[in-house]
Amino acid sequence: MNFSKEDENYIYEIISKNIKKYRKLKGWTQAELADKINYSLAFIRGIESSYLHTFSFGAIWRIAQVLEVDFTKLCEDEDTANKSKSIIYKCSKCGMETKFPANLIRNLKNLNEINGNNNLPSFPCTNDDCDGRIFPVNPMDF
Ligand SMILES: [Zn+2]
Repeated sequence: MNFSKEDENYIYEIISKNIKKYRKLKGWTQAELADKINYSLAFIRGIESSYLHTFSFGAIWRIAQVLEVDFTKLCEDEDTANKSKSIIYKCSKCGMETKFPANLIRNLKNLNEINGNNNLPSFPCTNDDCDGRIFPVNPMDF
């Protein structure tokens, strides 16, 4: 099932996906999670299959507590969040585009600055036939 963001079903689907993910990371069954928050198994099943739309903020809060995950993480669309966590680079010569994890690039930038280099990190093109350099497409990503 895929709902558009304009549809309120969207947030139920995101929450259900995230609860399932973090529960599995803990290695717990649905019954174990239900037990820990003192809710019924049917309740957890209902949330995780995203057909149950009558739970409270408080219930999600309790689930977040036992899963030891930030409440907001349960409402986060990871697909969207991950996209903004990468920085697009492009070769100035051959036009090849590639992506790097933003945290890696930001660390590198900080390291450069400590060494007195205030340029945004750039790299030799990874295209074998090209001797150009790749630069960030949008400096605002930093
Ligand atoms: Zn190139």
